[in-house]
Amino acid sequence: MLFQEARGGDKFLLGGKGYGLVEMTSLGLPVPPGFVITTEVCKQYYAEKGKVPKGLFEDIRSKIAALERQTGKRFGGEEKPLLLSVRSGAPFSMPGMMDTILNLGLNDRTVKSLASASKNPRFVYDSYRRLVQMFGKVAMGADGSAFEKILEERRKKAGVTADIGLSPEELQSVAEAFKRVVKAQTGRDFPQDPFVQLEMAVEAVLRSWNNNRAKEYRKFYHIADDLGTAVNIQTMVFGNSGEKSGSGVGFTRNPSTGENKLFGEYLPNAQGEDVVAGVRTPVGMDKVEPGIRKQLEVVATKLESHFKDMQDFEFTVEDGTLYTLQTRNGKRTAQAAVKIAVDMADEGLISPEESVARVEPEMLEALLHRRLDPAATDKPIAKGLDASPGAAAGEVVFDTEEAAKVGAGKRIILVRSETTPEDIKGLIASQGVLTQRGGMTSHAAVVARGMGKPAVVGCSEIEIASDGDYFTTKSGQKIRKGDTITIDGTTGNVYSGEVRMVDPEASKELSVLLKTADGIRKLGVWANADTPEAATRARDFGAEGIGLCRTERMFNAPNRLPIVREMIMSRDEETRRKHLYKLFPFQLSDFRAIFTAMSGKPVVVRLLDLPLHEFLPTSEDLIIELQGMREKHVPASEIEAIEEMLARVRQLSEHNPMLGHRGCRLAVTYPEIYEMQTKAIMQAAVELKKEGKKGALVKIMIPLVADAGEFRFLRGVITAAAEGVLKESGTTVAYQVGTMIETPRAALTAAEIAKLSDFFSFGTNDLTQTTFGFSRDDVEAKFIPRYIQMGILPQSPFDSVDTSGVGKLVKMAVREGREVKQELEVGICGEHGGDPKSIAFFSEAGLNYVSCSAFRVPIARLAAAHAALARKTTAVTT
Ligand code: ADP
Ligand code: MG
Ligand code: MG
Repeated sequence: MLFQEARGGDKFLLGGKGYGLVEMTSLGLPVPPGFVITTEVCKQYYAEKGKVPKGLFEDIRSKIAALERQTGKRFGGEEKPLLLSVRSGAPFSMPGMMDTILNLGLNDRTVKSLASASKNPRFVYDSYRRLVQMFGKVAMGADGSAFEKILEERRKKAGVTADIGLSPEELQSVAEAFKRVVKAQTGRDFPQDPFVQLEMAVEAVLRSWNNNRAKEYRKFYHIADDLGTAVNIQTMVFGNSGEKSGSGVGFTRNPSTGENKLFGEYLPNAQGEDVVAGVRTPVGMDKVEPGIRKQLEVVATKLESHFKDMQDFEFTVEDGTLYTLQTRNGKRTAQAAVKIAVDMADEGLISPEESVARVEPEMLEALLHRRLDPAATDKPIAKGLDASPGAAAGEVVFDTEEAAKVGAGKRIILVRSETTPEDIKGLIASQGVLTQRGGMTSHAAVVARGMGKPAVVGCSEIEIASDGDYFTTKSGQKIRKGDTITIDGTTGNVYSGEVRMVDPEASKELSVLLKTADGIRKLGVWANADTPEAATRARDFGAEGIGLCRTERMFNAPNRLPIVREMIMSRDEETRRKHLYKLFPFQLSDFRAIFTAMSGKPVVVRLLDLPLHEFLPTSEDLIIELQGMREKHVPASEIEAIEEMLARVRQLSEHNPMLGHRGCRLAVTYPEIYEMQTKAIMQAAVELKKEGKKGALVKIMIPLVADAGEFRFLRGVITAAAEGVLKESGTTVAYQVGTMIETPRAALTAAEIAKLSDFFSFGTNDLTQTTFGFSRDDVEAKFIPRYIQMGILPQSPFDSVDTSGVGKLVKMAVREGREVKQELEVGICGEHGGDPKSIAFFSEAGLNYVSCSAFRVPIARLAAAHAALARKTTAVTT
């Protein structure tokens, strides 16, 4: 389909690039004429196991004839030869993953006539050698490095540093040498017939859909393998035809910060692929000739008002005339995504709802990421371009394959002279990337931004050793493979060692976006917080309550641990009570602080779920200690004390502590524990009330219930303790007593439990463990990766809730619980509470709120809004 005829076509048929070219043509932008071979053809090609569909080449010939009429040039003609590019273009942009061949139609005859007709023979031969090189590599399978070697030799011989310095004669002889490489490596001549070139190029592009790096990329981004690529055939324009020519990449807004200002990079006298490949470091938009720059501003405005999103576009200037060659929705950092969405809603380009839908919740993770501590005094060892913000530290790895291998086990920084699409695996595996060459739109920069990983590119202050085992900085410092470095993609700085980092804060635009999201979502977002500081942070991030305050975490402080130990060591209730009540003041002050931080909002306090063994030394340690004591002839009484501890440790030791004497089971045996905790909770609430402060809405939660009987007994203990405190204080404070649902049996008997319980909160970590019968600590590294690889599990059920199994229990418990108690409040406080996919599920299951770690609260707010929007669209369409 010719660009001007395919108007209104869709991306899946035309591919992203073809779609963009067609739309730009209809907008009246200067697009060199061409046509699209649709993805249907690619699908047929694969359906027929790699055979070009019948009639395709005839069809192409007739389109070429149309192009010839349109341009007044002839394909293969000597007079005014028509030259073409053959460009891949999938429905989803996969930058640099597939192949494109430029300058098709040049051969020994056309190159001569073109060179003699042209004022600039240098560029004609430069184009020819590029064709032989690209075509040889992509369409004929020659090894690319041989070409680079020849170029390097020629440059050395001529005493120049860049190809630009080579004379027409030298370039002509390079082209000849390239043809010999092709012949030697593939056994075939570089084809002189332009139509043969064209047919082979089309097939090569179709094949490139299934090359390894494209497959890797699709896997990472969950792009379906059967979409196929379109093939775009387009008249060439030449950015390498002299000083008034050049190629560049433009962004309608800054892809790194989101600032509403044309941003881009430009390489004078170069063909487009030089910019992306990062071979030479380009100049900024401000260096572009003012007349062209003005035209680019107009292009940017037209593109945005049409596509209603930030565009990333390619352009080429040939002898002072501007052409646009590609446009697509630009990849951007999380920071830019938020700013652009909010600004565009503000400008009226999109609706507020659309602005919320535009930002993927997971993207916020990068914003909520750590950055370098401003107070850190480390001095950078090098500075490059700040290509993708955020800071990362890790061990230096130079090789992509190695990065892919070791990156799973430790934090690494991939360091490359420049990255190519082959490096995608290494990028996936690393914390961040550092390159020696390339600009803000180089491959490494674009891909890192898309992945939300920090990147410093074009860092010419480092020199990577040719054997690739170390790099040297300007000052001569050597950084070896395995050394730790820190990169700061926000400033472009590189540091030796690991620099201290700090927690992030929300930008103005993020607050606006989240406010809009709050207006859309139905699901409440609460946070898990165990300390007053965490509670304050959660509130700052927008949490509407605390869904899980784990009291055992409060015992970890060094001054409390010995008391906890004494309590555990106690052999009878009286001694236990004595030690237990020593903890009372600590608990009281903790609760006071947390309730104060959350004033007016609900706080769910979960009573002790204490794995006893975690608070005692191991028997191995004790045995060693005893040995030492005996050798040193320590007094017998001290030895006895340790012996007694050892005996108790042995007594308490469990084969399977996860399923052992923990949670409410411990409280059924030692009810005084919950009694003390309840008293502390209620005392805190009473004191605040008496001081005229607004306390929290108190919700007391019992963990690990499997039977209504457990709940009934403990509720009795809790109520007695609470009423005792209230009676003594002479005031009243409202409180609720509810349960966690974190064992399958609790879910199965939800109706029974709901009769007694004021609320439910799903503990999906334990519920996942017990439903699968998987011990999380043991299985995550051992076999889950294998299960995912084999497709037995789509992902770890600990990362995203297993909707068909665990989810079924959740839905059932909600339904049966609410049958008994219509207004039963139901939340979830496992780590799934912060996972967008799980949030969508919980929203659908009718939960009242999700509770997640404070840092994920913004993600959850946005994800909950997405869930509501998704429900709304289904409601409209069905
Ligand atoms: P990719 O998908 O890797 O971006 P493209 O098809 O966009 O591949 O092409 C690679 C480079 O070649 C780009 O810089 C593009 O601008 C340039 N290019 C493609 N077609 C033409 C053309 N007809 N004239 C001039 N440059 C072109
Ligand atoms: Mg491109
Ligand atoms: Mg639990």
